[in-house]
Amino acid sequence: MLAMSKVRRILLIDDDRLQQHLIQGFVKNFRSGTFEMEGAQTYDDGLKKLLSGRYSVCLLDYRLDSRDGLELLRAARIAGCETPVIILTADDSEEVDLAAMEAGAVDYLVKTTLNPRLLERSIRYALKLDETLAQLRQLAQRDELTRLLNRREFQRILGEEWDRSVRFKRPFALVMVDIDHFKRINDTHGHQVGDEVLRHVASLLAGQVRTVDRVARYGGEEFALIMVETDRKTAAENIKRLGVLLAETPCVVPTTNLTIEVTLSAGVASSLEDAGSPNELVAVADKALYAAKAGGRNRIVMADGTVVPFSAK
Ligand code: GH3
Ligand code: MG
Ligand code: MG
Repeated sequence: MLAMSKVRRILLIDDDRLQQHLIQGFVKNFRSGTFEMEGAQTYDDGLKKLLSGRYSVCLLDYRLDSRDGLELLRAARIAGCETPVIILTADDSEEVDLAAMEAGAVDYLVKTTLNPRLLERSIRYALKLDETLAQLRQLAQRDELTRLLNRREFQRILGEEWDRSVRFKRPFALVMVDIDHFKRINDTHGHQVGDEVLRHVASLLAGQVRTVDRVARYGGEEFALIMVETDRKTAAENIKRLGVLLAETPCVVPTTNLTIEVTLSAGVASSLEDAGSPNELVAVADKALYAAKAGGRNRIVMADGTVVPFSAK
């Protein structure tokens, strides 16, 4: 069921003022949900607004000035825009219908036969489809237990960040984090308590990084973080802060009175300094993590061998 209480923004990209006025009237007549409409009358303004990601749905004119609406749609899709787009056309043609679908539109409506009910229905279906796709994306990209990115999605993002880092010569740090002696927790308290500890560590990790950074569950009790625009030293400081926080906030297992303390080991590597490929970067960070384990755990080791203990101060 769509959440109808929320105000949803509709973007109408159409160079015809009369059409803008007409659709505005239709939107005011919608029976369900609260919608606000905003207009754009040129290709450039339309594309800019669509890419802002502020709109729940976009209505796009097939003929936009001298430009092609589908061209705008294709440009938006290439730029990663996921907003559902409904094409508006002057005339009913199978050719336009198919071309709109191919370009990534969710529906196409003929202006001459348009009325508030038809428009509302098309928007409702577009929103539902968008919601379903978002759920599917969530399932495909996230780890079920912790809700962090899964390894596959992390690998994809790592490739993207790598390319960006190389192109603009801006570093990012890769941090591999592993819970110390996690097997003991499972063995002592059972798998469910182990799961609770994993969720606890995951939520601390996710809460400590900036929105531009990425956190994934890399494997069982191993996590991977990408910190953009960050060198090794700063990444190690960030992770140290996290370790201190973890020491101060042990995992409290609900419905039991168990409080479980865990420590972490981490390996840190820098995209620009330590590797020639994403895979090598993971290998280098993993090697540093292994050195942290071998050195006694509860510490961070950087790719250059520097050791940073997780002491409270
Ligand atoms: P170390 O300090 O060397 O990392 O030791 P460790 O015990 O943490 O590492 P080890 O790799 O020996 O054991 C990891 C354990 O994590 C074994 C596995 O059963 C457990 N594990 C993996 N995935 C899950 C999970 O989803 N839930 C739970 N509860 N346990 C898991
Ligand atoms: Mg471990
Ligand atoms: Mg492990």
